[in-house]
Amino acid sequence: MDLGLADRTVVVTGGSSGVGLATVRALLDEGAKVATCGRDADRLAKATASFDPDRLYAATCDVRDAESVKRFIDGATNRFGPAVDGLVNNAGQSRMKPLDDTTAEDWRDELELKFAGVLHPLTAARTALRASGSASIVNVNAVLAKQPETRLITTSAARAGILNLSKSLSAELAGDGIRVNSVCLGLVDTGQWTRRHAAADSGLSYEDWQAELAADRGIALGRLGRAEEVAYAIVTLLSPRASYITGTSIDVCGGVGRGIL
Ligand code: NDP
Repeated sequence: MDLGLADRTVVVTGGSSGVGLATVRALLDEGAKVATCGRDADRLAKATASFDPDRLYAATCDVRDAESVKRFIDGATNRFGPAVDGLVNNAGQSRMKPLDDTTAEDWRDELELKFAGVLHPLTAARTALRASGSASIVNVNAVLAKQPETRLITTSAARAGILNLSKSLSAELAGDGIRVNSVCLGLVDTGQWTRRHAAADSGLSYEDWQAELAADRGIALGRLGRAEEVAYAIVTLLSPRASYITGTSIDVCGGVGRGIL
C-alpha cells in the first residue's frame, strides 16, 4: 500500500540514533523530505551521512531551548517550503532513579525535557503544520505513562503528563487539520540500552544481558524491540491514510504493557 508520504515534509527530533534514526530512514524510503536534529553535531553528521542530501535537512538543536528549536524549524521550512506535514517529537531519554535518590533538580530537568520536547517543536512549527492542511504529530512516549515504575519515577510521571497533553492537543489542533497521536514504547534496543549495559558492568554479553532483562520485565515476546519496529508504527500514524486516527496511542512494546486500554 502506498502510504502517501512521498514529497511530504516531516520533522523528526532526535534523529541521530535509535528510534529517531530508524524513523528518518523509513520516511526517506517512503519518498518524504525529512528534517532532523540532535545536540551533538558529529554524531548527527555520521548518522545521516549516507542519506540523500536533497531530501534531508539535519541541524543541531536542543529541544529544551525554544530559540534553538525555532532556528531548526525555520531552517527546515526555508529548505523544503512553508508547510510541515508531520512532526515526530522523539528526542529525549529516561531517568533511572527511585524517589529517594531524586533531587528537586532531577524533577525539574525531567519535566522540562519531556514537556519542552513536545511544546517547543509544536510552537515553532505550528504555522507550518497548519499550512499543510492535513498534518500529523506523533509523540514518542512510553508504556510507563500508563504503567509507572518506581525506579523511573520522574520519567513515569512526566510520560503520563505528556500522554494527557497529547489528548488535549488532539482536540485543540483538530480544527487546523492537525492530528495528534502517541506511540508508547516498551523496551527498545537503542543507544539508551547499550549505555545502560555498559554502566551495569554485569560481566554479561549484551545479548545475554538483554535476555535477562526481557525475562525480568516479563516481555511477552521475550525480547527487546527493534528501532525499525517502532518506526513502522510512527510512519503509519504520519501517513495521510491514517486520516481518521487522532487522540490515541499505540503500544509498541512486545506485550510488556499490562493494561487493556
Ligand atoms: P537514543 O538515545 O538512541 O536517541 C536519542 C536521540 O535524541 C539522539 O539522536 C539524541 O541525540 C537526541 N536527543 C536527546 N536529547 C536531546 C535534546 N535535548 N535535544 C535534541 N535532541 C536530543 O534514544 P531512543 O531512540 O531509545 O529514544 C527515543 C525516544 O524514545 C526518547 O524520547 C526515549 O525516552 C523514548 N523511549 C525509549 C525507550 C527505549 O527502550 N529505547 C523506551 C521508552 C521511551 P543527542 O544526544 O546528540 O542530542
